[in-house]
Amino acid sequence: MTNTFLPSYLSRENVGPWETYLAQVECVAPHIDRHLVPWIETLRRPKRSLIVDVPIKLDSGEVAHFEGYRVHHNLSRGPGKGGIRYHPDVTLSEVMALAAWMTIKNAVVQVPYGGAKGGVRVDPKRLSLAELERLTRRYTSEINILLGPDRDIPAPDINTNEQVMAWIMDTYSMNQGRTATGVVTGKPIALGGSLGRRDATGRGVFVTAREAARKLGVPIEGARIAVQGFGNVGEAAARIFSEHGARVVALQDETGALHRESGIDVALASAHREQAGGLKGFAGAEALSAEDFWRAPCDFLVPAAVENQITQHNAATIQARIVVEGANGPTTPQADLILQERGITVVPDVLANAGGVTVSYFEWVQDISSFFWSEAEINQRLDRIMSEAFNSIWDVSRARSLSLRTAAFVVGCKRVLEARALRGLYP
Ligand code: NAD
Repeated sequence: MTNTFLPSYLSRENVGPWETYLAQVECVAPHIDRHLVPWIETLRRPKRSLIVDVPIKLDSGEVAHFEGYRVHHNLSRGPGKGGIRYHPDVTLSEVMALAAWMTIKNAVVQVPYGGAKGGVRVDPKRLSLAELERLTRRYTSEINILLGPDRDIPAPDINTNEQVMAWIMDTYSMNQGRTATGVVTGKPIALGGSLGRRDATGRGVFVTAREAARKLGVPIEGARIAVQGFGNVGEAAARIFSEHGARVVALQDETGALHRESGIDVALASAHREQAGGLKGFAGAEALSAEDFWRAPCDFLVPAAVENQITQHNAATIQARIVVEGANGPTTPQADLILQERGITVVPDVLANAGGVTVSYFEWVQDISSFFWSEAEINQRLDRIMSEAFNSIWDVSRARSLSLRTAAFVVGCKRVLEARALRGLYP
């Protein structure tokens, strides 16, 4: 297979997500029409990046300042779309990479959006609910110049949820003097949210895993699943795999890792997390070291936490037959090569976790038309879009002897660049 080639900067120990993204784009040129190749340069730089200061009054009366970002990577195919992350490690270059992956992802599942992403460098666990609301409202006001239902539509990401989306929607609406439900997705149902959105990313992970399993002759019934990250994406993926007869044998979150060969009860683990704030101490499984989590025998491994988790240090120990990337950028380019050499199939993030933005698109369409669909309709349409996307990427990967990641980049970039070339250069 001709796949990820590694530019020299990627031989370094610590590779940032933006560098990972740039290396992924480098693989595309030989596989697209010649007239599109010069436009690739537009994918190597974000269209615009906004850095904002977010000052808020703490409950103590003191004022604290946080740094926030909103990046529009590429708007050739439509308004910006991408989540907002609250995390102490958020940086501008991380948000640039996450926005760029949204550009590719939206094109892979053919939703009519460009790529955007936002974040605030904050540990939200250290804020009270009232402080979190003030942070969200001030951040929204600071990035307001970029937002709008036909300009840029945020959604949840790490440590942001339906309540945060409700505050963003309200703040934007107050500034507009009208209620604009379509400015964010992942909202509560009572504010124009969509049925099925909460589980959508995890469900999409399952659908692409199921399609990969069909191609490779791996049964889902009785399969062993390991999931890193037990939040919105990881919990839903684990639960939906279990509902289809698979056994969740290993789980890991920020607080600890668990193992149980006969299968962890996902609902009980979830109830424990609600009460204890994490998986640590769950009585229904044995504790596992972080290192042993990556060695756990399994058929499917779902990284659904943060970037750079599968690295050159643990890729050789992974036992899975199929890795399905629920998280964005969980695999470093070096690790990608190791997994490939070991014959492990990787369903890449820009395909595997696109279920969230797909149902976000459904939510936006429902808000604009003020006509709401049933959950069964949503899940059925999601399943169709995700399976079709998987199968078309699979066909390209087989026809051109490419990894699924490179095939997804070729298909996604081609669509973005075709739109870019047709629009031409202004002025
Ligand atoms: P979340 O905040 O709901 O959950 C994150 C989970 O990861 C938590 O269980 C947390 O404890 C765990 N985690 C964080 N750092 C970790 C570490 N270093 N080691 C082990 N576990 C760790 O976030 P989420 O919305 O589930 O997002 C998870 C990933 O999925 C992110 O990469 C995000 O960009 C991606 N994603 C999310 C969506 C969505 O709809 N929410 C859509 C597409 C992609």
